[in-house]
Amino acid sequence: MNKIIKTEKLSFSYSSIEGSVPVVVLNDLNIEIEKGTFVAVIGHNGSGKTTLAKHFNAILLPGGGRVLIEDMDTADEHYIIEIRRRVGMVFQNPDNQIVATVVEEDVAFAPENLGYPSDEIRQRVDEALKIVGMYEYREHAPHLLSGGQKQRIAIAGVLAMRPKCIVFDEPTAMLDPRGRESIIKIMQDLRDNHGVTVILITHHMDEAINADRIIVMSDGDILLDGAPREVFRDMETLRGTGLDIPETAVLLHELKADGFDVPLDALSVEECAEAIYEEYKHWHL
Ligand code: ADP
Repeated sequence: MNKIIKTEKLSFSYSSIEGSVPVVVLNDLNIEIEKGTFVAVIGHNGSGKTTLAKHFNAILLPGGGRVLIEDMDTADEHYIIEIRRRVGMVFQNPDNQIVATVVEEDVAFAPENLGYPSDEIRQRVDEALKIVGMYEYREHAPHLLSGGQKQRIAIAGVLAMRPKCIVFDEPTAMLDPRGRESIIKIMQDLRDNHGVTVILITHHMDEAINADRIIVMSDGDILLDGAPREVFRDMETLRGTGLDIPETAVLLHELKADGFDVPLDALSVEECAEAIYEEYKHWHL
């Protein structure tokens, strides 16, 4: 079993105001997420990303179709605890996710609630704080930390459950560039070194280029689905979504259109600069 999440004809609409027609927010979605991958879900505001994410740990239940987490149906209430143990959620605002006045107590909150023995809790808390680089801050007060540090504590709180998958819903939206960078690094480290499946909901295309796969949503449908280099090849469709296209992708496409031999998949700033330099050498050195 190499799929951690599977949706089968998943549809959903929020119950409408009395008398009005319910608006379809998710439209017959079939999605399979492989274990250990990093998947970015992007799309304009209101395209259904958060609604989809909330189906991955049974915060919302399908209006039609099914959602399976390692073959456990989210609509079967017997599985709820098991599903929430496997799939953790990190939200936009770290202040809403922190519950205690000392960092390590906050991270211990979920395993304590599940009744683990205290030495196991200690081990889980230390391990989680080390992964997010906040172990030295374990006795600090969360409210005195920066936004990025608080978000790292929120991530540690989820990691203390040792989930197989973490869904990050716009985790960097309230952070400065340094905070953003630290969260992006943690997501990559979780995939690379800890076998955690990462699902990132974002409208920052430049964050999505780090993923193995990008799902582009529009009005409850999947518009594009593939590796970043495949998705960013389809400039016309992407422009139609109104999303910001990474500057590296725009630059490489324009250079290609002007006849330069540059690869379209050199999407990080470093790869893009290297690709342009190689082409420059060809012409000028
Ligand atoms: P995204 O995450 O892509 O911005 P959402 O999933 O938050 O999209 O929202 C999809 C649609 O569902 C939007 O039209 C939004 O207004 C609507 N919506 C979201 N949450 C609720 C809710 N709790 N009640 C009613 N409508 C909602």
